[in-house]
Amino acid sequence: MASPRDRAPLAESVEELLAAEGPLTIVEAGDPVLRHAAEPFDGQLDSALLARFVAALRSTMHAAPGVGLAAPQVGVELRIAVMEDPAPVPEEVRTARGRVPQPFRVLVNPSYETVGPDRAAFFEGCLGVPGWQAVVARHTAVRLTGEDEYGRPLDEVLSGWPARIVQHETDHLDGTLYLDRAELRSLSSSRATAERWAQPTPDAAAAALGFRLARE
Ligand code: ZN
Repeated sequence: MASPRDRAPLAESVEELLAAEGPLTIVEAGDPVLRHAAEPFDGQLDSALLARFVAALRSTMHAAPGVGLAAPQVGVELRIAVMEDPAPVPEEVRTARGRVPQPFRVLVNPSYETVGPDRAAFFEGCLGVPGWQAVVARHTAVRLTGEDEYGRPLDEVLSGWPARIVQHETDHLDGTLYLDRAELRSLSSSRATAERWAQPTPDAAAAALGFRLARE
């Protein structure tokens, strides 16, 4: 646990980040901050600063655009992430991927446990690895626990794409990138993904690129 003396530099660095206009700068793979386990949040930012930081994470996620953003992705090593997904995808994609619209959520000190044995493999990307996508098999359903930005407990079972977002963002808080879990032979540029692999499932990509789809 941090002493009050230790907290000041973190709050100061967040104040400095928020002093700039516009979206925060998203750090990219190769920056060690993406490889560190972040500190549990225990009041290092007071409630007013936390509210401003969360608002900046949200607007940065919208501007990117992305459906999730973790504090280390803007250089802040705290276990805080945001997610929100309007899910503007065709119906067949929505059905195959379970990509249903998600309201804005703040995850403070999130963790999850898996619900059931099923996994689903789909292309995903990361704002910290721009220009690339790869297939990752992830748990189909998870029970998310933690707190929201007001310290209220979170305890919710999510499935489909929202479960994927929770796993991806929680991984960031542990210094894990999606590529650590990806089928590397699926690695595709965003252009190739758009041109060739926009199908609802990655079956055609698996056959053509030569990787396995782990589903259980
Ligand atoms: Zn990411």
